[in-house]
Amino acid sequence: MRNPKVETVRGVNDVLPPTYRLQKQIENQLSSCFQSFGYRPIDVPVIEYTELFLRKSGEELISRMYDFTYHNRRLCLRPELTASVARAYIQTTLQGEPLPVRLYYSGPVFRYEKPQRGRYRQFTQMGVEAIGAAGSMADAEMIALACQSLDKLGLKDYRVVLGNISLLNQFLRTMPLERRLGNFLLSQMEELRKVRRAALEAAIEEICPPDNLVETSRLQHLLQGLSEEEAKATILELLENTNVNLVGNRQKMDIANSLMGKIQRAEQKPLWLKALDFMEQLAQLQGKPQEVLPSARQLLASYHMDSGGLGELEEILAILPSYNIDSTRIRLDFGLSRGLQYYTGTIFEIHHETLGQERQLCGGGRYDDLVKTLGGNNDIPASGFSFGIERIRLAMESEGILPVVEESTVDALIVPLSAAEHCYSIEVGEKLRSKGLRVVLEVRGKNLSTSLKYAAKQTIPFVIVVGEAERLANVVVVKNMATRQQQQLPLEEAVMVMRRENDE
Ligand code: AMP
Repeated sequence: MRNPKVETVRGVNDVLPPTYRLQKQIENQLSSCFQSFGYRPIDVPVIEYTELFLRKSGEELISRMYDFTYHNRRLCLRPELTASVARAYIQTTLQGEPLPVRLYYSGPVFRYEKPQRGRYRQFTQMGVEAIGAAGSMADAEMIALACQSLDKLGLKDYRVVLGNISLLNQFLRTMPLERRLGNFLLSQMEELRKVRRAALEAAIEEICPPDNLVETSRLQHLLQGLSEEEAKATILELLENTNVNLVGNRQKMDIANSLMGKIQRAEQKPLWLKALDFMEQLAQLQGKPQEVLPSARQLLASYHMDSGGLGELEEILAILPSYNIDSTRIRLDFGLSRGLQYYTGTIFEIHHETLGQERQLCGGGRYDDLVKTLGGNNDIPASGFSFGIERIRLAMESEGILPVVEESTVDALIVPLSAAEHCYSIEVGEKLRSKGLRVVLEVRGKNLSTSLKYAAKQTIPFVIVVGEAERLANVVVVKNMATRQQQQLPLEEAVMVMRRENDE
């Protein structure tokens, strides 16, 4: 009876040789494109402290991490590479290099997703990060590099969706929203288009339940118009003047903080309702740049907001044609927020209709706070993007442009006719390998006819037969499997014949 099989974990894949070679070919093409823009390769560990992603990646990604504790250390399998590259930049000599530091990477990432075609729990990300460059020129280079990489691969049917998260960030910053709530709202920008607003409001009520409003309303009234610091000082003063027996300053401070928290929570609802109104209006702004930009300008003006983010987008759109980027591919979408919370400015995604389904091939943007958040120098702006290699392969497959991978990876099969030729056949193999040929040896003692069938099945173009006569004369028999012709030759000549006939 057979032992039970051990299978792959759900959502992960074995990559068999033909697919592996295809993906490597795609990665090589992307590498040469990245290198042509001055990016250098970097490799970072698959395993990181969970803390790296907790600092700034956002709930959406954190909830899908493979996160575990091992010997009292909280570790995870990386769910993306930007945070790791930023960490490596801060931790190594890279931080001393002249800016910008341009890096590219490729490797597996892990996310606990609901698996389906094109969505896996382990997949390969390949992307770039430019650390230390701000502004529209840098942003445009990022978008252009992503598009040119896809052009190089021959992909045609992709769309670029461009947005700017700073508008929403700026709006949320003008309000004294609890940080957790602000982050939640940021992460819900794209959800707004998918779920009913009432459902979102219910979710927010759950995160931020209104405290006992009656209890706090008098205090709230008393502290109206005061800054947070002034309000806290007033509460402390009130406590000083009561006869309540409090042990030390610490306890007073705790009470003041808790009251402040209560008051702030009571004041949150009108704020997040206003934020949701703004987000709903932002989310409707999508389409061709020339149509969307004027409406965006109007919206910002109606909220008395600075339109700096729009200016940046306009500059980027003006630069892209110099990179020969087809402007009809580009759409603006102010509802784009991307799940990752570290973005601060221009963000973009590249989508493709892959096998009947809209798929995201690439995502990226500007993350000017991440280096600082991870403990690096202040004011190091940065931006980057990442491709999903498996999705690029699927997109190429659906456009029918997958490169043809060479069928045979072997140039010749060497067949010793008896045990007496084993050593000689090994020497022949070694000499052929030293000449750059890819050779396999018949090691199972199969006879010539079985070996010829094997070579035909494996599309090996040449079979080299060595028998006693060949060993004694220091020659080999070369059989061309396509023409069925064979000749006895010294090894040097056999190599020349194989090379010539292979080129024909
Ligand atoms: P993100 O880091 O979420 O922006 O993802 C970058 C790219 O990785 C996406 O544009 C996709 O091409 C790819 N990707 C993201 N999630 C998955 C997944 N679960 N399976 C396969 N590819 C993915």
